[in-house]
Amino acid sequence: MNGFRKWFARYMIGRYGNDELNRFLLIVSAILIVIGIFVPRHILNLAVVILLIIVYCRMFSRNIGKRQQENMKYMVLKARFTGGRGSSAAGRNYGSTGAGGARPRRKQKPAPGKRIFICPNCKGSLQVPVGAGRIRIRCPHCGSEFEETV
Ligand SMILES: [Zn+2]
Repeated sequence: MNGFRKWFARYMIGRYGNDELNRFLLIVSAILIVIGIFVPRHILNLAVVILLIIVYCRMFSRNIGKRQQENMKYMVLKARFTGGRGSSAAGRNYGSTGAGGARPRRKQKPAPGKRIFICPNCKGSLQVPVGAGRIRIRCPHCGSEFEETV
């Protein structure tokens, strides 16, 4: 499994990865799948397949600028629906109606062969495989890029 993770980390270098829009699309797919249990309809299945194709195409895309633009558009739309607040991913809370808002930040332990970096933009933590030298890191939370030596 570790070998796969290493391979995957290497495979993902220079590719777009996940972002807020993809997370949203995945949630929509999951909801459609659940609905599909009760309402077996081919259209629903087709919608899920299409959504997942979009998600993976975006994730493995090398056209990073384009994907970032899409994500920005989505973030703007989302901000509009969620009351215009929180265009940045800083205040993301995982519990949907969590009373306290931002959850307390847990101290994370990096996986073997990885290091934790703090995104300079959203202060989210991300794990990066070490030993690759100076690389461009894309924050999975907010999509911003920065360079680090690992
Ligand atoms: Zn970030």
